[in-house]
Amino acid sequence: MSGAYHSMMIYSSRFAPSPTGRVHLGNVRTALFAYLAARQSGGRFVLRLEDTDLERSSPALADALLEDLHWLGLDWEEGPDRGGPFAPYRQMERLPLYEPYYQQLLATGQAYPCFCTTEDLHRERELQRANGQAPRYAGRCRGLPTALAQERLARGEPASLRFAVPHQGTLRVPDLIWGERSYQLGDLGDFVIRRSDGSPAFFFANAIDDALMEINLVLRGEDHLTNTPRQILLLQALGLPVPSYGHLPLILGNDSQPLSKRNGAASIQELREQGYLPEALCNYLGNLGHHFPSEEWRDRSRLVQDFSLAHVGRAPARFDPEQLRHWQALGVQRLSLSELQDWLQASLSGLVPSDHLTKFLQAIRGNILFPRDAQEWAIRCYQPLQLPPTVQQELLAEGTAFWAMARQAYEEHPEDFRSLTRQLALRSGRKGKALFHPLRLALTGLEHGPELAALWECLPPAMVKQRLSLDLNS
Ligand code: GLU
Repeated sequence: MSGAYHSMMIYSSRFAPSPTGRVHLGNVRTALFAYLAARQSGGRFVLRLEDTDLERSSPALADALLEDLHWLGLDWEEGPDRGGPFAPYRQMERLPLYEPYYQQLLATGQAYPCFCTTEDLHRERELQRANGQAPRYAGRCRGLPTALAQERLARGEPASLRFAVPHQGTLRVPDLIWGERSYQLGDLGDFVIRRSDGSPAFFFANAIDDALMEINLVLRGEDHLTNTPRQILLLQALGLPVPSYGHLPLILGNDSQPLSKRNGAASIQELREQGYLPEALCNYLGNLGHHFPSEEWRDRSRLVQDFSLAHVGRAPARFDPEQLRHWQALGVQRLSLSELQDWLQASLSGLVPSDHLTKFLQAIRGNILFPRDAQEWAIRCYQPLQLPPTVQQELLAEGTAFWAMARQAYEEHPEDFRSLTRQLALRSGRKGKALFHPLRLALTGLEHGPELAALWECLPPAMVKQRLSLDLNS
């Protein structure tokens, strides 16, 4: 499809996570792209919880998921917490809604009860593998006479429900990212739509819900590519609308394996606790496998405005923590002074005198990525320094004469760092690094950091005196 076509579509998209763990960057990128595509086109964004895996899902995880998504600012107009015209938005509350669709498929001969046991199916797959065939259900129960099947059901024999895939034909499956793929129906195998315990299979509930919720854009991970032909067949068999599908290429970790906890995927909760800004994560993810017209910081409305499905690439994206920090740095730079203050308040309270707060924030803002960095600078400025022996030696090596001149310059210009350094330059004959490096080291204990003149404004006089006296262990 052309870009022009995309821009004319009004997308109703959704994020349909299973609340079986904390969301991480990979899931959230899918959510972000679905959100951006909907907003960009002026459409709706829906949140649906696919909580039918009772063993792995939990209400606490569902709440945490909503909290993470809210924190990221991906607001949905319909969802489990907000309701909406197609409620409920938790699949476990939707089970009765699926019933007529099973019945419709049964009535039209497009589904049948299957009595094969797990062992039967296992044996069949083993045999197929041994013969070099792709494992798929060969259709043993498809041919059961209806009366016999009814009898077995009446006896209470456990049965799943399978979709009867047409034996012949080709299915064309368009994909917004991968283009069109063709599938031979004969290769698909009849798949389960209702498990023998009565619960809906993923394929089924997911596709029916998309249709009932009037979703016309399904963005999801590449791992779902092979589900799509089955879901299209189901929807077609039921006469329900088929959405546009787009499968996002995988995100790889530092070991070239799909991103997971094991290889660097932090959960959103962990990133939030580390102090990442939600806007920084959104900028990072927006540039992960998607190309904006230019690589620059975008606020929410520009992320929306500049997003295009036509610019989602097919190559796997690679998670790069360095890039994530880059966007975080840009995010911190963009904060207004009052936003910065709100963000850092908890970390600085009790450390920075309130009449120093503004100058302190201005001094350090270019040198911090996280609240804990700000806290370290606050401790460094406002509490006695403990210098490691190597640093002490380095300072002593500058010579007592230099430090005596520094102290004298300070006494003469206690409030004016530029005059102080000018005088010290004249007296000591030093300039540039030779002048500033020892001063920085003595005053902060570090080789690098915020502009020294700005830090100077923050340092309490007692601390300056002590540090220039090389009163090293206090
Ligand atoms: N619950 C599925 C998942 O979390 C949804 C897939 C989809 O978006 O269609 O993978």
